[in-house]
Amino acid sequence: AEIETLRSTHIAEYPDFPTPGVLFRDITPLLRDANALRRIIRYWTTLLPEGIEYIVGTEARGFVLGAPLAYELGAGFIPVRKAGKLPGRPAGLKYELEYGSAEIQIPENSLPAGARTLVLDDLLATGGTAAATVELTRRFDVELLGASFLIELEGLGGRDLLPDVPLTTVWSIP
Ligand code: 5GP
Repeated sequence: AEIETLRSTHIAEYPDFPTPGVLFRDITPLLRDANALRRIIRYWTTLLPEGIEYIVGTEARGFVLGAPLAYELGAGFIPVRKAGKLPGRPAGLKYELEYGSAEIQIPENSLPAGARTLVLDDLLATGGTAAATVELTRRFDVELLGASFLIELEGLGGRDLLPDVPLTTVWSIP
């Protein structure tokens, strides 16, 4: 109940951002409150599967939330970035958006085969970003333990794009 309350007090809602008709959920009030941030990170760790060795987090809010979770769990953190930001020979994947396409990349040699891995982001909406991140992560033949989100917007089909991935969410919004 306490955790549920934090959603109404610490997630701000902005209508028509970034485009008309979208209700944007802003997590920055949660990030700036030291006690709330610590409570959410600690609570979130109790929802996650056992034995996570690596968290793969998606730019940019997947970094902010994924790094403290990895630290709490004693896991490593791997950033999935928008194309063009990573040195060397990162592995890349282009995927379709509602309008146009995007490309994400993961650092070369990110994950050893069999590594017990969790994909993580702040928010699951249509699932396009998460599905692309999962596909990229699986190229390393990891043991994918699941995907986890602070917020799931239900009814946008996100889950359907991740049919074989166990999902955990702190807050699901109908
Ligand atoms: P999807 O690919 O599932 O449609 O969108 C999820 C991605 O877009 C995530 O990386 C997430 O950070 C971002 N995103 C989409 N809508 C929102 C929103 O309302 N609030 C926040 N914080 N991120 C969003």
